[in-house]
Amino acid sequence: MNGNGITKEENTILTENFYALSKKQKYSYTVSLTSCGLYLQKNFNGSTKTDLIRASDIIGCKCMRNNGKSNECICRPVKNSNTSSHQVRIPYNEAFDCSAYLCVYAYILKNIATKNEKRDKMIVTLRFRNYNNYEDNLKIAINWKYEINSLIRTRNEDRIIVTPANNQCLSDRLLVIVNPKSGVGKGREIFQRRVAPVLVMADIDFELHITCMQNDARNLVRTSNIYEWGRGIVVLGGDGLMFEVINGLMERSDWQRAFEYLTLAIIPGGSGNGLAKSIGYETNEPYMQDPIIISTLNVVGGNSRPMDLVRVETLSQVVYSFLSVGWGFIADIDIESERLRILGNPRFTIWSIARLIGLKTYRARLSYSKVKNVEAKVSNFTKNSFFDCKDINDDDETVSVEFGMDPVSLEEFDFRERVESFSSVISKRSAFMSIHESSSFTSIPDIIEESDIRMRGPAPKIPPLSEPVPLDWEILEEEFVMIHASYLSHISEDLILAPNSKLNDGVIWLLIVKSGISRASFLQFLLALSTGNHLSFPYVQMIPVNAFRLEPLSGGSHIVVDGELLKHSPLQAEIMPGVTNVYARQKH
Ligand code: ADP
Ligand code: MG
Repeated sequence: MNGNGITKEENTILTENFYALSKKQKYSYTVSLTSCGLYLQKNFNGSTKTDLIRASDIIGCKCMRNNGKSNECICRPVKNSNTSSHQVRIPYNEAFDCSAYLCVYAYILKNIATKNEKRDKMIVTLRFRNYNNYEDNLKIAINWKYEINSLIRTRNEDRIIVTPANNQCLSDRLLVIVNPKSGVGKGREIFQRRVAPVLVMADIDFELHITCMQNDARNLVRTSNIYEWGRGIVVLGGDGLMFEVINGLMERSDWQRAFEYLTLAIIPGGSGNGLAKSIGYETNEPYMQDPIIISTLNVVGGNSRPMDLVRVETLSQVVYSFLSVGWGFIADIDIESERLRILGNPRFTIWSIARLIGLKTYRARLSYSKVKNVEAKVSNFTKNSFFDCKDINDDDETVSVEFGMDPVSLEEFDFRERVESFSSVISKRSAFMSIHESSSFTSIPDIIEESDIRMRGPAPKIPPLSEPVPLDWEILEEEFVMIHASYLSHISEDLILAPNSKLNDGVIWLLIVKSGISRASFLQFLLALSTGNHLSFPYVQMIPVNAFRLEPLSGGSHIVVDGELLKHSPLQAEIMPGVTNVYARQKH
């Protein structure tokens, strides 16, 4: 490693010296772009201090020009790094400012590995004034932009997407589906205020669809030309909205290609948010500090990974699930507490206590095919307990390192024509309306007749529900307090049912609580669900399986799949490994 922190293995792509002049201090910066990211080396009074903004934390950059509102000019790059004759204060004059600016946007980790780990927004503004005319300075800024984009985009442009019909390249647009009724009903506002600005910084072209009723999202993805959304589909809502999208896609005749090419994502706006939390947990991100930003960064980061789906078959229907199948206690509180929706997450807690007083048991036959060589017991589970700290900042903290003017006084310069401009997103109303108008049902290339709607998807390997289970399956027939199968770590932001579960481990984690457990133990068990230490109680068992069948032998409970109520019936479930892809950052 040399003095500026750059290792020998790193390839320096660009480097430039900048002067920052203020009344108190005179110092220079050496800014270098390497394969690892952007190094900012501050040279001050003979000493240096270097910060690295990692490439994986940079979300985008934009060329800007001065719009003349600022009246001070404090720095400019110089060609020769060791001459002080370039450190000249330039009086502001609109006609004179021929500089080109480059704003680099990043979300960097702060307080790493502490309780307060979080991501903060950082804007680095570089002012290029190497020449006395704007066009030449702009060329340099554009070159930096190009190189930064090449560095950060290599992670998401490794697949060329073609339409099934005519082999045309697809657009790079993202579809955002918002459920305005999710959670406490703030979906539109969250999108407008917190998500859209990040998408704009990352230069992601998007289309917005606000659902107007239940199954709107399902119909949209079933009947639209989804190949227009080459960047994928992100839902802003709860797990119920994602359930609609997955099942709508499974109803398409081209379901296989759709899942192969589309990357899905979720930004939590619901009251459960199991998928969003599980992704944050698996990628080791400080999710609870700011669930919206962390989830949005998954989308702009562009890294996707496979996720398992589970085919659930009842006597009357087949659905595809990504989260859980529940029966008994937790399923009952999930459904019965619906009336407490306005409270957001605490509704689960309040209802559990009410339910605990009259703890019920239910009889069932549970058959399953156990996965060998998977460790189900989790001992001394303490990992990342600080993620439960809920100290959410509502507004983005902007740490601005500027070698030039305040970015708000700059105007975006970009060769590409954009639907949504930088300024339109600041104005809540205009951006919202104009984007909304462009999303509609007008582009429907292959309308499927209502009568032909049926569930497709991968063929099951297990026998149908009408036939006996295979001979090598294990069978339990007894009274249960609950049976909850999950295939993600969390079924909600504060319930970690299957701590060892991964997005793509091919395992259904069957959590069962048998009759006989005391109320006191069961309460302890429920409380431990928020830390993942719930597996050491008597009558509690975790069984990793790849398929199971549940035949309720008494009524009174609910069957809940991904938080949605299904008609009470015998059911069976089978894991379909890696059927879909979701946006998720690389682990830091
Ligand atoms: P939550 O986590 O708060 O339950 P979800 O996004 O999961 O939020 O949505 C809950 C239910 O609302 C789902 O069944 C979904 O299909 C349905 N839904 C989606 N859009 C709308 C809408 N515009 N009006 C009413 N219900 C909707
Ligand atoms: Mg899994």
